[in-house]
Amino acid sequence: MLEYWIQNGASTSGISKDVLKDALSNIFTHDKKHTKLSKSLFQQLNVNNLDKLVDFIYDSIDKANLNNRKTCSVCYNNGAFEMKGWMYPFIIAKDKFPNIYPNGKIGTLNICKNCAYKCILALKNIKFYAVEDNVNCILFFADNPTNLKRFYNTLQESIRPEWNSNINKGIILDSFLYPYELLTMILYDIAIRIEDYKNYNLGALVLGFVSTRKKIYHTTDIVNNLTPIINALKALYNIKEGKVFPLLFKGLKEGSSNRDPSVFIKRELLLKDLLNKRTINWSVLEDIIFYNIHNNKTVPFIYDFCMIIMDEFKMTDKELFDEVSSEGYRLGQKLLEENKNDIKKAKSILYELRRKRKLEEFLDEINILQLTVEEEFYDKPFKDNPEKFPKLKTFFLIGMTNAVFRSKKKQTQYNTDNNIDDKNSNEGENYES
Ligand SMILES: [Zn+2]
Repeated sequence: MLEYWIQNGASTSGISKDVLKDALSNIFTHDKKHTKLSKSLFQQLNVNNLDKLVDFIYDSIDKANLNNRKTCSVCYNNGAFEMKGWMYPFIIAKDKFPNIYPNGKIGTLNICKNCAYKCILALKNIKFYAVEDNVNCILFFADNPTNLKRFYNTLQESIRPEWNSNINKGIILDSFLYPYELLTMILYDIAIRIEDYKNYNLGALVLGFVSTRKKIYHTTDIVNNLTPIINALKALYNIKEGKVFPLLFKGLKEGSSNRDPSVFIKRELLLKDLLNKRTINWSVLEDIIFYNIHNNKTVPFIYDFCMIIMDEFKMTDKELFDEVSSEGYRLGQKLLEENKNDIKKAKSILYELRRKRKLEEFLDEINILQLTVEEEFYDKPFKDNPEKFPKLKTFFLIGMTNAVFRSKKKQTQYNTDNNIDDKNSNEGENYES
């Protein structure tokens, strides 16, 4: 993580107060006062504005006593001093943060003057957004500093930092608490603006901490290769010219409160697994979907989202997803037709199906359903892939949910074609039961 951090501070000149000031102004307000981020990074230094901090840093690095027997942990040159917390927020004795400590082998991180300087300059690129005591930071990296610089040049102009953020408010699509939510919003903005990101081999450091008196880090991740997610966000943007993703993003919450952490946890987890592990966490998605069912709606464009993600991330099972969710959609439509749009009844069947933890029980339940609606059910995908049952069940429920909460509006335009824009999507309206 340290090397990616330092890549952001790559600089050719010697240490200069003007360069320091320029870099650090990214995290100080226009009148040189602290932001939430600068305060939590530097509060132990007792400096209360930008100029004082620049003086302190300049002197500290300039006058640092180098120990020639120490090697810089970054560039391996001889002559280094012990790195301090204000240079790099994660340093730190081995026992304090062992998971990001280089190989967990040495007792302290040592640094040469040049690398210490770069460490501080890296803050010129950090994007932060603080919500209450949650501070979220994103720092991008690329396969080399030149590409990184080109990438930053294609981004929007940064805005003047305010107390809680240095991000253009226009890209904030919804209230949120956690860093992967922030990263996704930034990437969406990138996706609709830039073309040549594919050559940068772009990645991101994702940092989240709670800033009370001490910083408590809950997220310190390195996310490699952002290309597939940017592609996917671009594809979502192209469906209805920007109308899809904001609705989808909002639909992944479990509630409307802006402060209650439980509202945002599942969305964060879904995005974290997607970006970091490159998987769709189907059980988390199912929880989100059922939260929405409980409130008589569906997550808007969830089918499109899954299809596009599975495509861009080259996930297996895309055909299965399509097949099974279509089957769920078809049965859901039929169910409403037979029951004169009784959404309450349809909901109770959705809950009943969700409760079935074993393949046989699930198929039995479907059997009852297909007898009621007098419709065949194509169970081959289930019978051929018993080991994938939990996933297939979610696929089916996504389709059925979309049918149930769409039908009231679409009843007169019964649609059987395979257009993903129209078939399983829905704009998330509420329906009274
Ligand atoms: Zn060095």
